[in-house]
Parts: sequence; C-alpha cells; structure tokens
Amino acid sequence: MPELPEVETIARNLRDGSAGCFALPGLTISGFNLSWYKTLVEPPAEVLQQLLPGQVVKDVTRRAKYLVITLSRHTILIHLRMSGDLLTFADDIDPGLKHIRFELEFLEGGRLIFNDPRKFGRIWVVEDTQTLLGKLGPEPLDESFTEGEFFNLLHNKKRMIKSLLLDQSFISGLGNIYTDESLHLAGIHPLTNSTSLTLYTSRKLLESIRQVLMDGILRNGSSIDWVYRGGEYQNNFRVYRRTGQACNVCGTMIERIVVGQRGTHLCPKCQVLY
Ligand SMILES: [Zn+2]
Repeated sequence: MPELPEVETIARNLRDGSAGCFALPGLTISGFNLSWYKTLVEPPAEVLQQLLPGQVVKDVTRRAKYLVITLSRHTILIHLRMSGDLLTFADDIDPGLKHIRFELEFLEGGRLIFNDPRKFGRIWVVEDTQTLLGKLGPEPLDESFTEGEFFNLLHNKKRMIKSLLLDQSFISGLGNIYTDESLHLAGIHPLTNSTSLTLYTSRKLLESIRQVLMDGILRNGSSIDWVYRGGEYQNNFRVYRRTGQACNVCGTMIERIVVGQRGTHLCPKCQVLY
C-alpha cells in the first residue's frame, strides 16, 4: 500500500507537473467520468455533476496517506489504498489502462485518471475535510510536532510500538515498510511496549522516522508489488522484505515475525527486546 513518501511523490508530480504528469493547479474542471460506482464515496454522482464543473484546482497536497486536491469551493480527497494510481493524459493519447475507475476532465484539455486494479481506492468530494482528516494523528515531518509531544503520546498509550506506529490516529502516514525501516534505524524491537521507551529512545525513534521518510521522498518512494511506479527506495531497504539476508549494520540474518497480523522485519541483534 502506498505510504507517506509515495503519496507525497504523487502529490508533488501533480502539483509541479513532473514525472510525466502535467500540473493541475490553475486548471478548470469541465466534467468527470465514474466507471466503478464504489470508488466515489460522497457525494452521489448526480450531485457531483452539479458541483464539480467550473471549479478551479488551487493546489495538490497530501495529508497522511490522502491525496488532497483543493478546488475553488470543494476539496477532493483520494485514498489510493492497495493499488490506486493517478496519472495525467492529453486528450488525444490512449492511456492504455485497463482499470480506470474515475476521470477528471479539464476545460483546457487533458484529464486526470484514477487507475485502480483492485478497486479498494476511494474518492470523497467534500466542503469540510475535517470529518475525514480531523481524526488523523500528527504529521511526522511537521516541524511543530516536537520530541516532547511524541514522548507524551507514546506514554499515553500502552501498546506495542509497531502496532502503534501503524495506527493513523496516533501518527500519520506510516505503513508496514517505513515502520519496519524506522524501527531498525532506531534500534528498537517492534514488540517493545510504547511506555518503556525513554526520552532518549523516543527522540531517536522520531529522528529515525523522519530520516526514513525523507529518504523515501528523496527517492520518489518505493516501487514494489503494487502499481506505484518510479520510486527507488526499495533498493535502500534495511530490513523490509530482506528476511534471511545480512543486516547491513551487523551482518546478522534479518528475521520476519508477525505483529498484529502484519509481517514484520527486524535484525535480532540491532533490535533487542528489553
Ligand atoms: Zn543488525
């Protein structure tokens, strides 16, 4: 599933017009096509038909794993889930995609296509984003999110650190890849109870999360078994999907365990459970 670095990369491509996409800000929506009814959560398609045409794209950003397209009056929120992808095409180009679920058309020409083979991706068009985004935890890369706050949040919960980091209401944007990578960089065992982290280790964890996410963004995310393309971070994995291979810090074989039904990768020597 695309995580923070992958969604951030897509948002930047659609905002700046890079990686084969054209920039969306400034374009006026002329219409849309919905080809799989479940993709659009709200409003109903007939209502959307009334409110979308004529709205101008103001910005394309990201909040947690949501792509946020701000329009003149409404906001489009897109969650890519397992296999969703967003691409732009000129009108005279056949996209050659088999799983198009939604298309936005622009007055100036061109369209934004939501391709989603597994159909789990979802789109909301809302006036108030808080219903969906308000319950999300802090953004790890937000500089106003402090080490002290992170420490307090960890100690307000009493949960295994891996499960807690995956919980979007605790902290935003992390999934299985970047959680495993951050815990290895910080030298923290995934089963560690959040309340047993000291101020020093919690600071190290926040620094590691930030470093791993920034490295991920720098390499345009990770291209692995889902549709997301173009990223190179998979070549830098420390532990994720490296079971049986040598840890690049100490040479010990990477192990895989299951934590809360999620495959979890760790180095038993670098990440000791106290
Ligand atoms: Zn190691």
